Amino acid sequence: MTNPSSESPRRIGEFELIAKYFAPLTEGSPGALGLTDDAAYLRVPAGHELVATVDALVEGVHFLRDDLPATIGAKALRVNLSDLAAKGAVPLGYLLALSLPAWVDESWVAQFAAGLSDDQLRFAIPLLGGDTTTTPGPLVISITALGHLAAGKAVHRSGARAGDIVFVTGSVGDAGAGLDLLRGNQLAAPEESRAALVARYRLPEPRLDPGQPIAQVATAALDVSDGLIADLNHIAQTSRVRIVVNAAQIPLSPAFIAVYGDDLAARVKAATSGDDYEIAFTAPASARGAIALIAAETGIPVTEIGRVEAGEGIALLDSRGNVVPVTHPGWQHF
Ligand code: ADP
Ligand code: MG
Repeated sequence: MTNPSSESPRRIGEFELIAKYFAPLTEGSPGALGLTDDAAYLRVPAGHELVATVDALVEGVHFLRDDLPATIGAKALRVNLSDLAAKGAVPLGYLLALSLPAWVDESWVAQFAAGLSDDQLRFAIPLLGGDTTTTPGPLVISITALGHLAAGKAVHRSGARAGDIVFVTGSVGDAGAGLDLLRGNQLAAPEESRAALVARYRLPEPRLDPGQPIAQVATAALDVSDGLIADLNHIAQTSRVRIVVNAAQIPLSPAFIAVYGDDLAARVKAATSGDDYEIAFTAPASARGAIALIAAETGIPVTEIGRVEAGEGIALLDSRGNVVPVTHPGWQHF
């Protein structure tokens, strides 16, 4: 959409910017028509349905102006791929809406597009289209990711049943720890651990490989973005069940343990800090073998952390089975 009263803040015009930096990212996707049409066209394989998800990243909320543009672009894409991963969808491509304040120059856009380009190769997806506007406010990057899935095979948040087991991929707490370190806390953290934790905050790894087979066995699933406890509570509420998590079973990385230890307080921290982008899911006990196989084949650990019961809400238990009070289960915008 064009706004006749707003001047372009960039050295080159809107259409040049799109042609120079974004049109090349549509390569391999004929339906994007090189960004020369009003819309993009795509097909999903016969018998499959389209899965759509959108996430916006806002300057000052999700990233800082000084963060590397390539990393901001990749993160914007990856948080969306993480949503597709949690649903077991195969990514098809994405749409990119940019609201650019005056401080964003051409070099910023070039680096941002380069970050997207690298990740497109990594995840084998094209850019399909988007929108570019100026804004008097903060930089906003909104990505809509599209994927496909065998029709009727989606794994929702609502399918957890009493008796199911609760699992999570990878390890939790690293990204929250990375943010903590960037904020100047834990100055004594060993350099190696520091780098690993900050990297997980800056650039999440969408769990697409385990996500697709997990969706075949899971009764409910989501990606952990707000915090393990907060997000499992979403499953508990939507599925109308109670979820019990054993703190001692929560998977922590060596880097996390090197900085925070692995006592109960460290585990509560890991389970309530956000940005993990792991997949938390429930599955019947009979799926344990299949899940172990998925972990072995993808190289991503999948850890049993609790169980689903009749009732409501979420409970975190210490090693004696006592409920641990959790005052802030995770991140909330408002
Ligand atoms: P409209 O007038 O409908 O808003 P635009 O002139 O904004 O159309 O967009 C022209 C073409 O450029 C479309 O194909 C659109 O998808 C694409 N486009 C615009 N901005 C972006 C962007 N930030 N990323 C990818 N494609 C974009
Ligand atoms: Mg437009």
